Formats: sequence, structure tokens, C-alpha cells
Amino acid sequence: MSPFYMLDYNARMELSPTNDPRGVDTHPHRGFETVTLAYEGKVAHHDSAGNSGIIEPGDVQWMTAGSGVLHKEYHEKEFSSKGGSFQMVQLWVNLPARYKMTPPRYQALSRDKMGKFQVPGNGGHVDVIAGEYGGIKGPAQTNTPMHVYNLYLNAQASIAIKLPAHYNTGILLLAGKVIINKQTTVNTNCFALFKNEGEEIQIETTAPAVILLLSGEPIAEPIAAYGPFLMNTQEEIMQAIQDYNQGRFGQLD
Ligand code: MN
Repeated sequence: MSPFYMLDYNARMELSPTNDPRGVDTHPHRGFETVTLAYEGKVAHHDSAGNSGIIEPGDVQWMTAGSGVLHKEYHEKEFSSKGGSFQMVQLWVNLPARYKMTPPRYQALSRDKMGKFQVPGNGGHVDVIAGEYGGIKGPAQTNTPMHVYNLYLNAQASIAIKLPAHYNTGILLLAGKVIINKQTTVNTNCFALFKNEGEEIQIETTAPAVILLLSGEPIAEPIAAYGPFLMNTQEEIMQAIQDYNQGRFGQLD
């Protein structure tokens, strides 16, 4: 679903308290962006470019690995010690060849920075993360054209979304139940991928719903993927492995 290469979804789960936070220790990335969206619980992040932060419900961390970073991702300490509900998404957003070796960048997009669109008729609201909706722009700076929204809809809401037909578009339902284009029901924890037909999708809710919408212009380039690297050619993958082994991704304790 170019430019979105991967969607890693942690459906809502209840975590027991622990003083040994769960997570992923130091590892590299090159050639794409990791976009982490928190819905329940908190994640802490540190990277070799010197950035760190805590991602809380409604927040998005948009990390451009570009030429290469090391990072580690753990459940936030205090959240871990208390335990509780946890629900997260991480996207891998591909970069076109001309930006694969761009310097690393870190965008901490807290919930209050999102573009806010109020859905008429007490329908709820849309957090515009990237791109725009209804004239409201999102704060994320992207390397290729895309729209990324969190929709928080009330029951009996109806919303129409116009998107270019050639963009690849899908929705992940994090909570609730919706009817798409008056014909297809989508339940919690399901993903609906749209055909590249038509320019409008319609979403109606029967219960309060939380939806992640992804829509982007495809990157028409070859893909060479290996572990944490996403490049165009096998040679570039070999180079990434070599650079990592020689310590060129920086340092992170
Ligand atoms: Mn990672």
C-alpha cells in the first residue's frame, strides 16, 4: 500500500504492572520513516540523533530515519509500573530514492498540535496529522503527498472524505463499528483497503468509533527490504548492513 510499507498494530490489551518495561532495545533503521501513534498507554523513545520523548494517547511521533539512526522503544516507566490498557500503531512510511539518505528528523506531534476539524451535527472530530481535511492542515511534514487522520466519531455520525483516486487508501478501526459507502461493515481491529476507484469515501457510525485513515500517493520505485532497512536495490541493503556494522549509524547507550 505504497507509500505505507508496513502497519504494525498492537490491538488493545491489558498489561500487568512491571518494573521492567517491555519494549525493543537499540536497533537501526535506514531509508524510511517510522510513525508511531498512541491510542492507549505510553511509549518512550530515544535515538542516536539525540532525540527522545514520550508518546501519549493521541500523540504521533514521526521519525525520519533517512540515512540512518539507532533507536530504542520502550513502554514508559510510570505507565509500566501501573499497567493498564495499551493500544498502538507503528507505520513504516517509505521514502523515495531522492530522500532515502536525507538527514534523520524527528517530529514530536502532540495531540494539541493536530489540525482539528469538527464534524457537523455533533459528529465528533478529525485530528488531521498529515495532509489536510476540509481546509484544515496537519502539522506533519512529509516527503511525499499523503493524508493521515485520526477520526473520533460519535454514534450516528456521517462523514464524507474526498481523496485522489490514485492515492492508496485504507482505514484501521481502533474502536467501534462503521459502514463504508453504505455497503460494507467494518468492525473493531479490522482494516479496510479501498480500490483506486472514485474520489469520495463515506463513513457512517452505529457506535462511537476511532479510525486511523491512511491515504498517499504511491512511490513508483523498486523496493529492496531487509530487516530494519528499506531501500531500492540489494546493493544499498548491503551498504546499510556494512555501515551499521562499522558504527556509522551513531551511538546510543
Ligand atoms: Mn524501530
